[in-house]
Amino acid sequence: MSLAGYPFSREAALRVKETGYSLEGLLADPNPEPRLCRLARRRGLDRVLGAVLGEIPDGPAHPLAELFSYPLARVIVSCIDDDLLTRRYALAEAKLAGKKMAREDLADLILLARDLGADPQAGQGGIRLHFSDYLKAAARMKSPGWKLVNRSLEAGWVAVTGQELARILEERARERVQRGLPLKVPPEICDKLRMEISRVEEELSSRKAEERVDLGEVTEEAFPPCIRVVLAQVAAGKNQAHTARFALTTFLLAVGMDVDEVVAVFNKSPDFDEEKTRYQVEHIAGRGGTAYRPPSCATMATYGNCPGEDRLCRWVSHPLSYYERKVKKGGSG
Ligand code: SF4
Repeated sequence: MSLAGYPFSREAALRVKETGYSLEGLLADPNPEPRLCRLARRRGLDRVLGAVLGEIPDGPAHPLAELFSYPLARVIVSCIDDDLLTRRYALAEAKLAGKKMAREDLADLILLARDLGADPQAGQGGIRLHFSDYLKAAARMKSPGWKLVNRSLEAGWVAVTGQELARILEERARERVQRGLPLKVPPEICDKLRMEISRVEEELSSRKAEERVDLGEVTEEAFPPCIRVVLAQVAAGKNQAHTARFALTTFLLAVGMDVDEVVAVFNKSPDFDEEKTRYQVEHIAGRGGTAYRPPSCATMATYGNCPGEDRLCRWVSHPLSYYERKVKKGGSG
């Protein structure tokens, strides 16, 4: 397999170098390769716009344009120099790579892993990864199944499935893409990409404006899995750990429920004591001067309150961001 299809790989960077093209050459006007230049620029824009919109579409058939579009996309991201865009871009490139990885066989995944600096081993007993390689990627995974304590560890090696290896490589790819961004790009190069940059800036600012919308009425269907699980257990009258109750309370207050409504949610708890519950909810809501924020996904996972991510979870780092996104999509997806 050629790794050139993974534009962040060392092999792809080498291929770009071997072609002899420079960025200046690609953007030169008049251009010796107008078609290639046009396709690469269009695909570079597609990559960054796709990241803003949530997904980079599959690439064009022209392999050189695909190869050059990646450095061009990095330059566009760097000229804009916006933290949110940089993070979304790295994540979107990693997701695109993840889709390709799903079609690779194990030998190719191992090749890619080595390019990404990990060294998995495959044998009779399955695939294993050194725990230091495992931890680097798994530290960002939110579901409890990724925690090292929940894995079988033998002499420093962690057993993983092929699917898990691909997920780990996706995370490594995200780090690789994000590393070094923003690049130091000379202003004259940014000027040459002015059209692409304006297009991305326009979309980015409209996305940001949309994301600031008022959440309006509480939409239960848009709650993230972690909150739904606790809600269901509370509704079934099951006792909850303090951290889970705290997460539920802060979340419900943050999405606009008032103290009375939140207290009513807990009235099925076996130890429901209205006065005590009200006191606690009021305290969390800020009666004592400090209003508490819902915990992030990382904290939820640390306390065992993340039941496992769904598709949307992989794009967020906070249960409230999950909710906001889903509300905007009409509670679906
Ligand atoms: S929103 Fe975060 S904490 Fe909640 S289920 Fe998804 S990943 Fe886990």
